[in-house]
Amino acid sequence: MNSLKQSGAAFFQIILILFTYLFIPASTNAAPKNIVIFISDGCGFFHVDATSMYQYGETGRQVYEQFPVKLAMSTYSEDGHGYDAEKAASDFDYVKKKATDSAASATAISTGVKVKDHVVAVDEDGKPLEHISQRAEELGKSTGVVTSVQLSHATPACFVAHNKSRKKYEEISREMILHSGLEVIMGCGHPFFDNNGVSLSEKSPDDSTETDFSFVGGEETWDKLIEGTAGGDADGDGDPDYWKLIQSGDEFRSLMTGDTPDRLIGIPQVFHTLQQARTDEREKEEYQDGSPFTVPFIETVPTLAEMTAVAVNVLDNNKNGFFLMVEGGAVDWAGHNNQSDRLIEEQIDFNRSVEVMVDWVYGHSDWDETLIIVTADHETGYLTGENSDPELQPLTNHGQGELPGMEWHSDNHTNSLVPFYARGDGSELFMGRAVNTDAIRSIYIDNSDIAGVIFELWSGKSGEATILEKQ
Ligand SMILES: [Zn+2]
Repeated sequence: MNSLKQSGAAFFQIILILFTYLFIPASTNAAPKNIVIFISDGCGFFHVDATSMYQYGETGRQVYEQFPVKLAMSTYSEDGHGYDAEKAASDFDYVKKKATDSAASATAISTGVKVKDHVVAVDEDGKPLEHISQRAEELGKSTGVVTSVQLSHATPACFVAHNKSRKKYEEISREMILHSGLEVIMGCGHPFFDNNGVSLSEKSPDDSTETDFSFVGGEETWDKLIEGTAGGDADGDGDPDYWKLIQSGDEFRSLMTGDTPDRLIGIPQVFHTLQQARTDEREKEEYQDGSPFTVPFIETVPTLAEMTAVAVNVLDNNKNGFFLMVEGGAVDWAGHNNQSDRLIEEQIDFNRSVEVMVDWVYGHSDWDETLIIVTADHETGYLTGENSDPELQPLTNHGQGELPGMEWHSDNHTNSLVPFYARGDGSELFMGRAVNTDAIRSIYIDNSDIAGVIFELWSGKSGEATILEKQ
């Protein structure tokens, strides 16, 4: 009897093994197994240095500054005039002209194709361009996007959706929530909370702030998210895969370890940003260019670093690996407002989110199967050291915990080169793409090279030039 039972068990084991081999596509071995792109929106070299001086009292201390691949990157869009290193070196105002917007740059990073400003991953005929995340899904990998601003804002949108205009927030968020194959979406835009994390229902009757469902796919989609009936077929089995919605900071933190739902959408209880857009009545007059962390943080929302920890805890359940994009979205907003203090707060949270991911590699993976990229979509604010116009000056270091000497020359984006860092499987390929030289920033790649290298790696034809076909 026993031996019969045993041979029966062995038979089922063989069937199981056969089944596994038959039904898992061969392409799931696509390497790198895991790819994570961190984008600090609006971050230039001086933004990194200013934050390092405040955090550590010196530059060069960020975890990503220890990565083996350290380059500069051009960011111009189809509306731009390229990047002319000679003009950038000789004319202080050169980089103020023809800067990209976040949508065009994120589209270039995500698809490898340069488009005009405000375009969300469609070509000039309006046809959708293939995202890295879509390729990842074809390869059986899990996918996710995380941001410190609205979940359907330009950068996350351009990694998932397709639209002629980044302003179509409701359409974009519906595409992300109802029609994408993502496993993780996290970002702000909560319809019932303001920028200070205060519930609209708790506000005085004369406060005219209206509920705005545009960043979460409209009211109907929001109702379905609350009911737990929002979401299309993400895994291709023909049945809908509904999102699990989390909102409070505690809910986020409880999912940083342990079991996770298959699909997780996290919408913190705040409207535009996690922290950058908060106000403080007591310090309203002088909060601009004050010290970082003096205006109390909203306590009910997670940090970007905590959101990153939750995201990877969901995504790493897939043995085929994952693709994740994490955006420090409000770094750009601090730059537009020339807020040195908020810039440093936002960039520190961004830096910590990269640290979370690097720790995950050491604890749960290794650099032979995971590629981490840390970069920006463009520079914002034209940040330099003091007395820089017309000669670029370095920041003045005032030591740890002190704002360095900084000077802003713009309230908008610039065409300056931005930093690019990479470590892990395939990262060396970026060196081969750095074919241009800048007087100040040395060799640089272009933002379209990121998808170029990733598509090349995942096609299994590493080393060959990839010609990106528009769909
Ligand atoms: Zn911006």
